[in-house]
Amino acid sequence: MPPGDIQSSRPVVLIAEDDPSQRMLARVALEQAGFTVLEADNGHDALDKADRQAPDIVLLDVEMPELDGFAICSRIRKLKHIADTPVIMLTGREDDESIRNAYDSGATDFISKPVNWSLLGHRVRYISRATRIGRGLRESEKKNRAFIKAIPDSMLIVDKAGRVLTHHRGKDGSRLLDECASDGRSVMETLPPTIAESWRKQIAGVLNSGEMSQSEDHIEANGAHCFYETRMVPYTADSVLVIQRDVSEKKRADAKVRRLAFFDTLTGLPNRQSFLIQVSEALREAKASNSRLSILYFDLDNFKRINDSLGHSTGDALLRGVARRLEQCVRRADAVARFASTDTSVQVARLGGDEFTVLLRDVQSVEEASGVAERILSALSQPMHYHGQQFVITPSAGIASYPDDGDDVDTLVKNADMAMYSAKAQGRNCVSQFSGTMSVRSLERLDLEDALRKAIAAGDLELHYQPKLSLQSREVTGVEALVRWTHPERGPVSPAKFIPIAEDAGLILDLSRWVLEAACRQLERWSGGDLDDVRVAINLSGKQFRESDVDDQIIAAVDAHGFEKSRLELELTEGTLMNDVENTVRTLTRLKEAGLKIAVDDFGTGYSSLSYLKKFPIDALKIDRSFVSEIDAGGNDRSICAAIIALAQSMGLKVIAEGVETAEQLQHLRFLGCDEIQGFYFAKPMPGEETAAFLRRYLRKRQRRLSLADDTPPVQAIEG
Ligand code: C2E
Ligand code: MG
Ligand code: MG
Repeated sequence: MPPGDIQSSRPVVLIAEDDPSQRMLARVALEQAGFTVLEADNGHDALDKADRQAPDIVLLDVEMPELDGFAICSRIRKLKHIADTPVIMLTGREDDESIRNAYDSGATDFISKPVNWSLLGHRVRYISRATRIGRGLRESEKKNRAFIKAIPDSMLIVDKAGRVLTHHRGKDGSRLLDECASDGRSVMETLPPTIAESWRKQIAGVLNSGEMSQSEDHIEANGAHCFYETRMVPYTADSVLVIQRDVSEKKRADAKVRRLAFFDTLTGLPNRQSFLIQVSEALREAKASNSRLSILYFDLDNFKRINDSLGHSTGDALLRGVARRLEQCVRRADAVARFASTDTSVQVARLGGDEFTVLLRDVQSVEEASGVAERILSALSQPMHYHGQQFVITPSAGIASYPDDGDDVDTLVKNADMAMYSAKAQGRNCVSQFSGTMSVRSLERLDLEDALRKAIAAGDLELHYQPKLSLQSREVTGVEALVRWTHPERGPVSPAKFIPIAEDAGLILDLSRWVLEAACRQLERWSGGDLDDVRVAINLSGKQFRESDVDDQIIAAVDAHGFEKSRLELELTEGTLMNDVENTVRTLTRLKEAGLKIAVDDFGTGYSSLSYLKKFPIDALKIDRSFVSEIDAGGNDRSICAAIIALAQSMGLKVIAEGVETAEQLQHLRFLGCDEIQGFYFAKPMPGEETAAFLRRYLRKRQRRLSLADDTPPVQAIEG
C-alpha cells in the first residue's frame, strides 16, 4: 500500500520521528501488527498529516526539530476532529517531569526509549482498542442521555430497601415520585403506606424473578384522584429501575371517551353500543348455564308528534323523564319482581330516538318476561308533567327471548324490534311476543319503508289523475290526484299499502308536501288554455291535516302557482275529521274561506256522527267504493247509498260515488239521484299527459254529441 493512502480498513498510525532508522523499525513493527503507517520526519509535517489524514493513533517522538512532541500533542488536542485521537509519546527521558509534561500536553500514554519493537505492535493495538471502546461508550452514553431526556417519565434507581440511588425528573413524570424521591433516602418512608407496601413486594419480586413488573398506583388527595403507571425492571443484581408516569389525565380522558362511546348523552343511560355488548355477554352466560334471557324493546307511541308539535326541548325532557321512570321501575321490586334483587340481572338502555330496551337475564318463562314488560308499560303510561302541562306517553313493547327467538345478538334485537312493531300494529300501548310469522312480513315492511324513504327524497313518485263525471251535466267536474310509486324491484305498489307505511314511518309529511306541490304544478300547467277550468282533488292524510300550519301550507302552495283557489279540492276521510273536531272545524273554515273545496272521502266506512258532520264546512261526500260495488247485489248496500245520497242532499252537499265499474251500478246511482261518479267505468287514473288528452277527447265528443249522436260506450251509457 502506498504511504499516505488511508482508504484502508486497517487502523492507521502516524509515526512522527526524526530518526529514519527508528521510523523504519517502527513501521515494520506496526505493519506486522496490522496497521497502516504514515510517517512524518518533523513536527510540522506530523501536525499537517494528523490534521489532514486523521489517523487512528499518533506516535510522537518527544524530541524533534521545529516542533517537539509535547507541542504537537497540545495542538492536536485543539483540533476538534482529532482532539480525542490517542497520542503516544516516545520518550527517552523517563523522568517525572517529562512524564507529567506528556500527560499535561494531552498524551494518552508514553513509551520509553529504547523501544521494545516486538511489544510496540501489541501496545499500540491495545491502546487503539481501548480508544475505540471508550469512544463507543461515550457515544452510547450520549445517546442514553438523549433518550432519558426525551422520556417524559420520572425514573428512579433504588436498592432492595428502596433507597434512592439515582433520580431523574421526567418532563411529564410523576409528581408522586418527584416528591418522595430524595437521594440516599428510602422511598418507603415517603410513599403513602399502601403504595409503599406494594412497592416493597414488587421490588423483591423483580429482584427475585429478573422480570419486569407493572402496576398502577392511585392516590386521592383533597377530592382529586391521581393515577400513576409504575414499571419496575431489574437494574443490577440488587437494584431496580422504577419508571413512573402520571396517567391521571389519560384516565380522565379515557373515562370521558367511554362515557361518550357507551352512554347516551341525553338520558345518561347505556347506549346501543353498550347494550349490544351487555346482550352479547348475557348470551354467553345464558348458553353456558343453559338459562333464558329476554330483550324487551319499547318504543313510545306517536312520539314524533310530540317532538313535531311541542318542539325538541319538550321532547328531550320527556325522553329524560321516560329514562328516569324506566330506571326507577326496574329498580323497584314490584315492577320487575325478583329481577330487582340482583344488580346485573336487569339492564336498561336507550337505543336512540324514542326506543328503549331492557335486558332480563335468567328468565324463567315467557310469561315472566311479558309480566315484567306489562308492569313497565303501565308504569311508563302514567301521566308525566312538564312545565305545568300533563303528558301521557304510552309505549309499545316487543319481546324476544333466547333460546326460542334467536341465539345471536343481532337476531334477538331485530326480533324484539319486530315484535314491538307488531304491538304497534295491534293498536299500540301493548306488549307483543316475537313469533316466527312476524319476520317475513316485517322484513318486507322494513324494505318497503326504506325504499319509500329514498323514493320520496329523490322525488321518484308520480301523480295519476282520475276524472269525475257529473251525471246531470255530463261534464267532467274534475280529477282526483292519486299518488303512484314504483318500487325498484317489486314494481308498482298500491298507495293503500304504502300510505299507511309512510304514516307509520314518519314519511307522510314529506310525501304529502310532494303531492301538494305536484298537483299545484299540474294545475298551473293546465291554466290559461282549454283545460283552465279543470279542478284537481288531492287526498290529505290524517297526520298531514293535524300539522298545525296545514292551512297556511296549502294556501301558500296555491298562491305560489297562481291559479284560482276553487280549483283545488281536498279529500279527507271521516277518521281525519273526527280526530279533533274543534281544530278541524277551525282549519277547514279557514281553507273554505280561502276558496278551496272540501270533500269527505270513503264516506260510510267511518263513524262520523251526523250531528258533527253538520259542523264541518264541507262541499261533498264521496260514497265509499265498497257500497257502490255491491249496489246491484240486492243487499243492504243500495239502501245505504240511497240514505247517504238523501242525507247529503238534505245538507246541501254534493254526492260522488267512487269505484263505479259497470253500467248497472251507474244506472242505480243515477236513479238514486247521485250527483257525480268516479270509477273505472268512466275512466281509470292516468298520468297527467294522458289525462289532458282524455279530457280534450271527451270534450270533443261531448260537443259532437250535442250536435250529432254518439253511441260509443261508455259515453252511451253515461248519456243514458
Ligand atoms: P281514495 O282516495 O278513496 O281513492 C280512490 C281509490 O279507488 C284509488 O285507489 C283509485 O285508483 C281506486 N279506484 C277508482 N275507481 C275504481 C274502480 O272503478 N274500481 C276499483 N276497484 N278501484 C277504483 P288508489 O289510487 O289505489 O288509492 C288508494 C287510496 O290511497 C286512496 O283512496 C287514498 O286514500 C290513498 N291515496 C292515494 N293517493 C294519495 C295521496 O296523494 N295522498 C294521500 N294522503 N292518500 C292517497
Ligand atoms: Mg280520495
Ligand atoms: Mg275514496
